[in-house]
Amino acid sequence: MVHVSTGDVFRDAVARGTELGRAAQGYMERGRFVPDELMIQFVTTRLAEPDVQQRGCLLDGFPRTAPQARTLAAAVPVERFIVLQVPDKALQMRAAERRIDPQTGDIYNLTYVPPPAAVAARLQQRQYDDDAGTFQVRLDVFHRQLRGIVPNFGKRVWMVDAMRPPDAVFDDLARCLEASAGAGAGGAVAPPAEAPVEFICAITMECMADPVATADGHIYEREAITEWLKHHTTSPRTGARLKHLELVP
Ligand code: AMP
Repeated sequence: MVHVSTGDVFRDAVARGTELGRAAQGYMERGRFVPDELMIQFVTTRLAEPDVQQRGCLLDGFPRTAPQARTLAAAVPVERFIVLQVPDKALQMRAAERRIDPQTGDIYNLTYVPPPAAVAARLQQRQYDDDAGTFQVRLDVFHRQLRGIVPNFGKRVWMVDAMRPPDAVFDDLARCLEASAGAGAGGAVAPPAEAPVEFICAITMECMADPVATADGHIYEREAITEWLKHHTTSPRTGARLKHLELVP
């Protein structure tokens, strides 16, 4: 399977000063999305290339908007749509501590995946990760867009709790890709029974962009449970009294 990371492709295009890179650079520097037309044109061209046609493709970082999602769903038989679930605070920390090895492309985290001493000196921080303000803009946009994207893929959505150790997340992803192999063109493929569903919000029934736990231990979309608790004093799941609004984190 071919790995196409739109972020990597566009970062490389900016660094090399290609026409694509020049068109995208201003948006990327401000932490904005590259316009849909540019992104869709790039992805549809890439998907038509022989390696992808023969081996299939793992699209990483695409689609990020509803028009991108609609175009993708209409253009190719998408077998799985994987959502890696990580709360904002953890994402901010992961970005701030992420380091890239420019020679191998390997990615480290200063706390959780510390680099070996031999490569430490040459590691680089991604240009757009080191500024908390820019990163927050990226997160805000992501949360706004997610609700318009996920419904395009129905039962093909696979939610992965990415707060677990890397091996456990990797195993989930491997099972997902194995289960997808040869799943057929265009059909809605039901996720395997063990697919975690705890990140589907019990109030909105949509995938949660910003999950929080209530004091009784259930998880909801932050915006939905905040609104619910303005008008109710009990849990929408269990009916238990929620005396205090204690959302974690
Ligand atoms: P990433 O490494 O996936 O976070 O992507 C880095 C940057 O590339 C994003 O902040 C956007 O500016 C741009 N980008 C990557 N993928 C997309 C996409 N699907 N739609 C719009 N912009 C994108």
